[in-house]
Amino acid sequence: MKKNLLWAFALLLAAAVLGACSSSSDKGKQTDEPAKEEAPAGDATDANKDEKTGGEVNIYTARHYDVDAILYEDFTEKTGIKVNVIEAKAPELIERLKREGKNTPADLFVTVDGGILHSAKEEDLLQAVESEVIEENVPAELRDPDNQWIGLSTRARVIVYSKDRVKPEELSTYEDLATDKWKDKLLVRSSDSLYNQSLLASLIAIDGEDKAKEWAQGIVNNLAREPEGGDRDQARAIVAGVGDVAIMNSYYVGRMSVSDEAEDVKVFDQIGVFFPNQETTGTHINISGAGLVKHSKNKENAVKLIEYLTSVEAQEEVSKENFEFPVNEEAKLPEVMAEWGTFTPQKVEFADYGKYNPKAVELMNEVGWK
Ligand code: FE
Repeated sequence: MKKNLLWAFALLLAAAVLGACSSSSDKGKQTDEPAKEEAPAGDATDANKDEKTGGEVNIYTARHYDVDAILYEDFTEKTGIKVNVIEAKAPELIERLKREGKNTPADLFVTVDGGILHSAKEEDLLQAVESEVIEENVPAELRDPDNQWIGLSTRARVIVYSKDRVKPEELSTYEDLATDKWKDKLLVRSSDSLYNQSLLASLIAIDGEDKAKEWAQGIVNNLAREPEGGDRDQARAIVAGVGDVAIMNSYYVGRMSVSDEAEDVKVFDQIGVFFPNQETTGTHINISGAGLVKHSKNKENAVKLIEYLTSVEAQEEVSKENFEFPVNEEAKLPEVMAEWGTFTPQKVEFADYGKYNPKAVELMNEVGWK
């Protein structure tokens, strides 16, 4: 009961804090859409109900995708375990976990980006997940070596091109996009995006700082316009004739294929997806994952939730609804993704995305990537 009261209090506090912070933005760590800074899924008056059910699990999440809520609901239906969600940007959640320490109500920290997951581990905010089910569901390379965080899905940062004006044979690597061949034809969002920061961080890890800086300079030189909008806006700009090729996350392409906006479905029809660096260093991927919070009070439920989220059923749902790649190799891909075919990902430690993030941001500033 005391725990419930604490949680209820935490929710009220969360609502107040999130309300107060709603205009603040963390320029260094932005995703495509602003985090929905809304109250947690369950309100405080629901908190007493879980004695009748399978208890609860409390999630701090920086993911902003509708499919997550669907999966949490399915989990509750199956297990009776109530899922409480607080959504904010990852750096805010990490600060909050640090501040709350032992008193945190959080059981799981969920976010996009391997660098952030690794930094939560480095900050000593997580603990090892012990579950044979999870080890079976998720290949070792998509989990933290100590199982302090577990991958839930991946996405590739691909080249998207105009089917009218570009032949896939003309495309090859990220490095090629930085050559004169693509002068005034390239589209990419701003350097505020963590998606771009992690891409550049991966290139620093592979090629070293000097080459990575040269690449970033080449990208800036080739831009068809100053960076604006999110990933999908780059695809829209291709179809509007602003540029011919764009760098964007694979799942946004899939989402456009089933968009409620007829215009976006038209855009989808006119663009192709290309996985770069297949003959060289592989296509850049990033990962979403769940870390088990060090001071979790509902550890068993939290592990059960990760087991569910990595099951074939949940993994197929993530791909079907959000077009992310499953971490569970048994999960089948929706047709749109199956048509893209298989690809070789970069062999870079996800931890390096965090390690080289400050350098990536510095280089972007130096070359004038807005
Ligand atoms: Fe996104």
